[in-house]
Amino acid sequence: MGQQSTGRMNVESFNLDHRTVAAPYVRVADTKQLPGGAVITKYDVRFTQPNEGHLEMPTVHSLEHTMAEKIRDHVDNVIDVSPMGCQTGFYFTVVNQDERGGMLAFLDVLAAALGDVVTATEVPAANEVQCGWAASHDLAGAQQAAQAFLDQRDAWQEVHR
Ligand SMILES: [Zn+2]
Repeated sequence: MGQQSTGRMNVESFNLDHRTVAAPYVRVADTKQLPGGAVITKYDVRFTQPNEGHLEMPTVHSLEHTMAEKIRDHVDNVIDVSPMGCQTGFYFTVVNQDERGGMLAFLDVLAAALGDVVTATEVPAANEVQCGWAASHDLAGAQQAAQAFLDQRDAWQEVHR
């Protein structure tokens, strides 16, 4: 559907054939070495199969808030947690992950943060002072999605069909 570019594009995920992946999965989308030597890693954390399923926006929003807050209870190298506009997953950007055990250690941290989502009693910062659309949240939806993702942990490292 729609026009498909054949050349290489600037954005890494635009060069990923979304028909060939097998969600749920976690993969390294990009790494960048900074001039000072620090290495930035961006993980593609895919919850639902592209073009077959998606998360509802209030679920995405509550997952974003809760994961972004809780993951920082476990580690201090998270730069950013961002939802994908297609509502199928999130990007997690971290610094110097190799010094902290690389991908496997990141998966443990991710699992811990998702466990925190499952047991959360409220969405952090879901109010009009701290959020841009405080009415658009669904904690139960976020918890259901987090549990479903956790239940499939054995499949996280199988990225392709
Ligand atoms: Zn918000």
